[in-house]
Amino acid sequence: MTPRGGVAAGYAGVVLDLDGVVYRHDRALDGAADTVAELGRRGVGVAFVTNNATRTPCEVADRLRAMGVPADPPQVLTSASVAAEMIHVPARCLVIGERGVRAALDERGLDVVEDAASADVVVVAWDRRLTWDKLRRATLALAAGARFVATNSDPVYPSPEGPWPGNGATLAALTAATGRQPEVAGKPRAPLLTAAAERLPDGPLLMVGDSLATDVAGATALGWDCALVLTGVTSPSELDGAGPRPTYVLDDVTGLLAEGPA
Ligand SMILES: [Mg+2]
Repeated sequence: MTPRGGVAAGYAGVVLDLDGVVYRHDRALDGAADTVAELGRRGVGVAFVTNNATRTPCEVADRLRAMGVPADPPQVLTSASVAAEMIHVPARCLVIGERGVRAALDERGLDVVEDAASADVVVVAWDRRLTWDKLRRATLALAAGARFVATNSDPVYPSPEGPWPGNGATLAALTAATGRQPEVAGKPRAPLLTAAAERLPDGPLLMVGDSLATDVAGATALGWDCALVLTGVTSPSELDGAGPRPTYVLDDVTGLLAEGPA
């Protein structure tokens, strides 16, 4: 049975994944804006998390507000902002990645270098301008002992035309070349989710996501409850498989507040 007030009623805060939960590609999902606003009115804390490292938290918050979703930059955590927090200042970072991760490193006061020999850390994020030369320099730096930090390890990005190679594909190339495994900020690893928890009130938290492999697995590993929504990458037929199971399965994010059976 769903608790009175909906699934979200028993939680101090909810951690909302973005793509496939609040929006899909460039459009807000039906009811998502009203649901986020109502959670706030009911005193349930809200944080937004995304493994996507291409945008800054400010840009993500602006995008959410443009869709009618109430969001302030401190509520938004990206795998890039959390990866930057994992690196102690000062350090010289060789970067594969786009604007979001570069801005996060700059904001933390980390130096970005182009030369493999001077790099203390190799930071790897999704990069739609990935080249062999970037892989070459990252491989040289890792072989020389630089720390290996990644924003996220998603194997694919679900584009409107189908799967594109994600940051996990880039990491696989670097791991094949070096034998090194990265420290990963994003889901299903803990850093992104624990950083979100630090922004929320004390008490039980609910992860809300559309992916079994990242959202449900990440929440389960931390002992959190998790609501899987069916507006993203997971179809109902996949729920019968092995692996982590969500606490709740909801047709969409409005199910957080709906009365009645979950
Ligand atoms: Mg998602």
